Amino acid sequence: MDKKLVPMTRTKFLKLKCNGCGNEQTVFSAPASTVKCLACNQTLAESTGGKIRLVAKIVKELE
Ligand SMILES: [Zn+2]
Repeated sequence: MDKKLVPMTRTKFLKLKCNGCGNEQTVFSAPASTVKCLACNQTLAESTGGKIRLVAKIVKELE
């Protein structure tokens, strides 16, 4: 109930569209591991040491 999260860094969320099935999924801009589509299990983004390498197309950037 009384949860307040203080952002440590300026990271954001990206809405990606899967190349395989068209599913839209929100992912963190600095993922700890590879992000896969929840619908078809295709890789959407890969983690490369703190940075993200996108495989899927960005639909929207969220703050
Ligand atoms: Zn998919």
